[in-house]
Amino acid sequence: MMKCLLQRLFRWLWPAKAEPENSNLFRVRRVDDEPKTIEDRLVYVVGEPGHEWEAVLRCPCGCGDVIKLNLLRFEKRPTWHVVANPGNKATLIPSVWRKTGCLSHFIVSWGEIRWCP
Ligand SMILES: [Zn+2]
Repeated sequence: MMKCLLQRLFRWLWPAKAEPENSNLFRVRRVDDEPKTIEDRLVYVVGEPGHEWEAVLRCPCGCGDVIKLNLLRFEKRPTWHVVANPGNKATLIPSVWRKTGCLSHFIVSWGEIRWCP
């Protein structure tokens, strides 16, 4: 009850900050070249508009590894598709299943990480 009232007061005072959980979401950032430093919770889409060739992100499991995903459809390697949802929330299709390192298997959907078994 008390907590509920406090939440309402908080929302009333700071309506713009009503989505604190959103700070953990993965967002899309478009860049011309492969970035030298990879920030957490960003999916870098590397290339020019209409010719994006790679997506780069830091593994969400916390292992610190940088994951690079091929976006070029005409190559024989597995291909991913990055969608920038409203608010630049990232969606990655299909799932990412690492064959090395931490072997994480996850989906990025509307900026949220969903772990696969
Ligand atoms: Zn990892």
